[in-house]
Amino acid sequence: MPRNAFFSILAALLLLGACDRQGAAIGREYPIKKISDRVYVIHGPNEVPNAVNQGFINNPGFVLTRKGVVVIDPGSSLQTGEMVLKKIATVTANPVIAVFNTHVHGDHWLGNDAIRRAYPKAVIYAHPKMIAKTGEAGPFWIKLLNRLTDNAVRGTRPVSPDLGIDDEETLALDGLRFTAHHTGTAHTDGDLMIEVVDEKVIFLGDNVVTQSLRRLDDGSFSGNARACDVALKTGAVHFVPGHGPSGGREVVKAYRDFLGGLYRAVKKYRAQGLNDFEMRSRVATELKPYQTWAQFDSEIGKLISLAFLEAEREAF
Ligand SMILES: [Zn+2]
Repeated sequence: MPRNAFFSILAALLLLGACDRQGAAIGREYPIKKISDRVYVIHGPNEVPNAVNQGFINNPGFVLTRKGVVVIDPGSSLQTGEMVLKKIATVTANPVIAVFNTHVHGDHWLGNDAIRRAYPKAVIYAHPKMIAKTGEAGPFWIKLLNRLTDNAVRGTRPVSPDLGIDDEETLALDGLRFTAHHTGTAHTDGDLMIEVVDEKVIFLGDNVVTQSLRRLDDGSFSGNARACDVALKTGAVHFVPGHGPSGGREVVKAYRDFLGGLYRAVKKYRAQGLNDFEMRSRVATELKPYQTWAQFDSEIGKLISLAFLEAEREAF
């Protein structure tokens, strides 16, 4: 065989092998935090996806019903979903009976794949507007996450939610009540906040994030602040954000105040005739208490531009 042909065949075989291979299991160890009697959260690193965190960056939660388990946002990949299932197994041997997805961003729902493989009968719920977008969002997010993580999520298949659930609908799942809250466009147009009524816990999705800045490309500053107000009016006393530490009402207030402060500052400087990049350092100065939040420097400019556009739309 000529040398060149040999090497081409070898390269093709290696490439095939690489495509076949599945990303490795999540390597870092993450503690489970007990939030209430029946509710647990695995707080992911408050980072953007990279090769070290393998794309796991959100806060998957699980709730023990009488004979089953309900999962909220099983994470960014097959690998993350499998890690969540392993953690659940340290607490209970009961099966996963249902899943809620809070929104369409892939770091929250691509872990559905692991649940579907292990528990084919588990029903996956999300807002109808979220479900309508998964066909496009799934492949987009898998590609994006693989690019950012050196292919850590390889092998993940997008598994769309099965059933829609909308604002103020309550599901009784094996003895526990789950109420959905959807307040229009907030972080995206299809967000759900899931209140575990009997446990006084609310999963906020990315309508609230703490101690880090997140994109708001699909959302609305005023709508997101409104969602925060709704969360504060529920009977919840434990608040679980999409990213960052959980806690009491202060968790929601901090993000609402950040969004509100940013939006007010942008509107003020816009009224003074400044464009978005001219006002950047002034707005950043007004947001001093939040400058220690992760991704402040990399994301603040983008958020100011988005707030500027929203203020412009609001003015017309
Ligand atoms: Zn997120």
